[in-house]
Amino acid sequence: MQYDWLDWMKKPLNDMLQDCQQQAEFFPQEEQQEILGRFRALTRSIKYAIQPATYYQAWEELIALQRYCRERRELLTLSIQDTEDSEVEPSAIEKDSTAISVAPYRPVPIGQHKLPPLRYSYDALEPYIDRETMRIHHAELHQKYVNDLNKAEKQLQNAREKRNYDLVKHWERELAFNGAGHYLHTIFFDIMSPGAGGEPKGDLRDQIIRDFGSYRAFKEHFSQAAEKVEGGGWALLIWSPRAQRLEILQAEKHQNLSQQDQIPILALDVWEHAYYLKYPNKRKAYIENWFKVVDWNRVNDRYDTARRVLWQPY
Ligand code: FE
Repeated sequence: MQYDWLDWMKKPLNDMLQDCQQQAEFFPQEEQQEILGRFRALTRSIKYAIQPATYYQAWEELIALQRYCRERRELLTLSIQDTEDSEVEPSAIEKDSTAISVAPYRPVPIGQHKLPPLRYSYDALEPYIDRETMRIHHAELHQKYVNDLNKAEKQLQNAREKRNYDLVKHWERELAFNGAGHYLHTIFFDIMSPGAGGEPKGDLRDQIIRDFGSYRAFKEHFSQAAEKVEGGGWALLIWSPRAQRLEILQAEKHQNLSQQDQIPILALDVWEHAYYLKYPNKRKAYIENWFKVVDWNRVNDRYDTARRVLWQPY
């Protein structure tokens, strides 16, 4: 079987190739050739795959290769900056320029999540979202989710070391509540910008029309879902890699009713703290105005990235 090669794969593959080529310009000549040769071989594997396993394996390797190119270029750039000041012993990763199949991997160490900085100032979303709400929301509430997530991770690490799980239920709840809080706020603050709004363009617009019929239908459904979240929570637009469709979900209290097999790409915070100073008990008006600061380019970037996650559909 051949996997509908010609249509949707061309763009992501071309984007990936361009990205790899750009990063590889900074690599030694020999390594550059090797990377691009590997890229072409994987592309052929995808194009001519007979077995699903071969096809998915090739995509995964291609994604790892792209990640490797970015991180390798970053390392090379850093090492040039370092050696301008002093002679630095190259790290193990720099020495091992053949480690293509094992992409550099930089997980957040246990208990070391950090508050992501905002891309704009606290008053940048005025008049739609006021400065004081943004300051409290980001500097205090999001920071608290980060602190409490770190605490829960360390407590669970401690429980594993001591093999004492008396409080595991409590710390698992803290882990879910604060983890969801940290990750969703990270998306929420990232997908807004001053002077944004309007309608989505490009691939995301096409997909919204495929899955909801029109942008108007999507916006109405999303707004209704947000308005009718019971108590605190979120409205989410997600890409479902299993169903290969966009979907709209409510996440009440954000650790409940959440599909765990999904990638949120748009997140609207409808906890009261996100709007009560300016819109006391007027959630609907807040939702309407929130759309005026949604940065669809950022959402589109998240969609493009999420779209590259490929799992066996069933
Ligand atoms: Fe919030």
